[in-house]
Amino acid sequence: MHYDGILYRPPSESQSLLIQLTKGCSYNQCTYCAMYRDVQFAVKPLQEVLSDIKEGALYRFRRIFLCDGDALITPQPQLLEVLGAIREHMPWVERVGIYGDTRSILKRKVEDLKALKDLGLGIIYHGIESGDDVTLKAIRKGATSKQIIAAGQRVREAGILYSAIVMLGIGGRQRSQEHVLATANVLNAIQPDFIGVLTTMVVEGTPLCDEVDAGRFQMPSRIGLIEELYGLLARLDVKKGLLTSQHASNYLPLRVVLPYEKEQAMEILKDLIDRQDTSSLRPDYLRDL
Ligand code: SF4
Repeated sequence: MHYDGILYRPPSESQSLLIQLTKGCSYNQCTYCAMYRDVQFAVKPLQEVLSDIKEGALYRFRRIFLCDGDALITPQPQLLEVLGAIREHMPWVERVGIYGDTRSILKRKVEDLKALKDLGLGIIYHGIESGDDVTLKAIRKGATSKQIIAAGQRVREAGILYSAIVMLGIGGRQRSQEHVLATANVLNAIQPDFIGVLTTMVVEGTPLCDEVDAGRFQMPSRIGLIEELYGLLARLDVKKGLLTSQHASNYLPLRVVLPYEKEQAMEILKDLIDRQDTSSLRPDYLRDL
């Protein structure tokens, strides 16, 4: 396989064969992200990807994940060709997943997304991080809450499973409440199939780290982050979905079937908040991105 650099994938794709479609991120400006900071973005040559698909067929994976960050930026004809080749060489594959940024979703019409779905694209992971426009601007996400909602709704309309990624703590102490409220509003407007909760980690060398060093950004306390998760759940009105905080960056892994298990999860969180109990939280040395 032609793997180049460190590959990232969502926790739920841990059993998937990774096929690298792009190198790095075409945007690469989010202040908290260190994943591809020194990587020159490129769409990989089609022949290389097709050869990986043929080789990958030997391993008979049932799921495929297309890397890197925002691989959905790949031009539509090339993406169609890649999905077509997966279908031809691995007809047993049940689902193909991909990271899609707001820009790469919105550059496609619903029909374009449906064409990808028809060739096997089964899930798009969309890093929305926050629904708060002040926070989105501060972290240079390059999208407004309105654009994020439009992108999420477009994926849903195309019939592709939609997984929203949100980040606890990304508004800092200053915007914590606004961040939670606005993020819940965005999620309610989209009605995601899945919500993946991550917790902000301040990585050295990022602009966010500079903000912390300069005293302009302060992470909420660990209990403050639990309060954010509680506040998010309290405001969520998702009719049918799954919220998980099982990513290694989180202090408390939860798996909540929405809406049925929401109250139960909130009770667990409320108990920790009331007792200010951090003893059951994941220690920082075990957290990772
Ligand atoms: S968070 Fe995603 S869109 Fe932002 S720079 Fe990192 S990979 Fe690119």
